[in-house]
Amino acid sequence: MNDRNERICIIGGGPSGISAAVYLQLRGYTNYEIYEKLDKIGGKCHSPKIKVGNEERTFETGAIMGALTYHAVHEIEQFGGTDHEDGPAMRRMYRNAAGEEIFPFDPKKDFSIKKTKELLEIKSQMKKLTELMKTKYKGYDVYGHRGVAQGRYDGLSKEVSNHLTELRGVNPNLKDLCLPFNEFCKLNGVDLVQRLWIAPFTSFGYGFFDEIPAAYVMKYLDVTTAIEFFSMRLWTWKDGTQSIYENANKRLVHPAHLNTEVVKIVRPAEGEKGKIKVTVKDAEGERTEEFDKLIVTTPLDKFIDYADAREDEKELFSKIIHEKYVDFIATFAQNTSPTISGYIFDNMEYTRLGHTMVYYQRWEDLKDNCPCTVYALRNHQGSSDVSYDYTINTMSDDMAKCGFPVKEKLFEQEVYYFPHVSAKDYADGWYDKLDAIEGKQNTYYAGEVLGFGDMEDSVAASRDLIDRYFAD
Ligand SMILES: Cc1cc2nc3c(=O)[nH]c(=O)nc-3n(C[C@H](O)[C@H](O)[C@H](O)COP(=O)(O)OP(=O)(O)OC[C@H]3O[C@@H](n4cnc5c(N)ncnc54)[C@H](O)[C@@H]3O)c2cc1C
Repeated sequence: MNDRNERICIIGGGPSGISAAVYLQLRGYTNYEIYEKLDKIGGKCHSPKIKVGNEERTFETGAIMGALTYHAVHEIEQFGGTDHEDGPAMRRMYRNAAGEEIFPFDPKKDFSIKKTKELLEIKSQMKKLTELMKTKYKGYDVYGHRGVAQGRYDGLSKEVSNHLTELRGVNPNLKDLCLPFNEFCKLNGVDLVQRLWIAPFTSFGYGFFDEIPAAYVMKYLDVTTAIEFFSMRLWTWKDGTQSIYENANKRLVHPAHLNTEVVKIVRPAEGEKGKIKVTVKDAEGERTEEFDKLIVTTPLDKFIDYADAREDEKELFSKIIHEKYVDFIATFAQNTSPTISGYIFDNMEYTRLGHTMVYYQRWEDLKDNCPCTVYALRNHQGSSDVSYDYTINTMSDDMAKCGFPVKEKLFEQEVYYFPHVSAKDYADGWYDKLDAIEGKQNTYYAGEVLGFGDMEDSVAASRDLIDRYFAD
């Protein structure tokens, strides 16, 4: 039985770090500390309050939504006493690159035989993919990536009717999920479904289908989650996604230390006993604390810069790549703000890097005076990045084309987004190599890269880690 008194250090106060502490506490551990370098909880779940007229409202700069497949997030909601019933409803429309409204999924608007035929074909391919995922790709919708490159599945089921059942098995077809998503679709004769998957994938900053392994696409947008997205049955939070993790943090025995950055890790050599020395930097300077175990929920490619990383850690973690997702919150000239969110399909191509792919109008009742968040990607594997400044300017120009001239930017950022590995490294068994070093030198790895760059897969990766290594 694991010693419940061992002292555990958690690096990072985002969804992964806070949920690692929640699950530790639920399994009987109370001797843990969380270090968060920023002055706030939640990492990329950041929901600043902005004054509009005489009242303050929350806006989202990072995570916005969930769905009924968010089982792990729901556990964190319950722990903290947070509810997703009170969030503003999601609403959307579509535009082309010129900013004009289009109706790609409505057969009655802009009617043509060609369009009607295409929509019927998309529907039939969607049906085919749904069936294939249930049969040929059985086991695809367990959390995490262990074994996929070898044609195995091993994890808890995400699927609603079967959720949290442990599934383990062999299915050689799963190896197809190592292919970039466009090749996976071609192989299965379902090319057209990319038109459905692209909005909640590429416009949400997760990259382009010619570069991203199908495993990431289909595990995040499993068929149920995808249908919930198309049907707009989505969860949002009135106080923002940040509130899920703030509320949970308040109920922890040891809430996170804010403004405290982990700057150095020194571990006893492999096979030797001793304490892990963690140096943190806060307003008072640097100090070193001793721990028995370490849980890293922060970017692993950055961990090798401040930790005493072994060669196997350096080799694996240097393969992690990430997206450069840019967003800003803007106000617009009086009575000219969007009244509903918009997707610009033409801009979801890598030839259009830096262009607005989507904008989010959060509060329907604020009508055309609501600040909005605007999003674009500025990188693609095999293309040169476009610059940050070009991206910010192009995004504003695109909003003007849609009829929304930006007045003021209240917030802007580029995020280290969706850490993942290439199709080649995925097929080379990157995830199994990572799994093989979990626990070495009492170091455990969690965070987005273990599952996917969304809240659910990040929180579920923490739950998986605690259940596998700390529950006995
Ligand atoms: C624009 C945008 C839109 C998104 N939309 C959605 C959505 O609608 N739905 C959804 O489910 N997900 C969405 N996401 C993704 C979701 O926010 C992330 O997947 C999730 O926040 C990942 O949690 P994490 O804890 O692993 O990482 P992070 O949220 O990045 O948290 C990591 C934390 O570690 C801290 N840290 C880093 N280094 C150190 C150090 N050395 N010492 C101490 N602390 C450190 C950071 O400051 C940060 O707080 C979105 C993200 C963005 C940016």
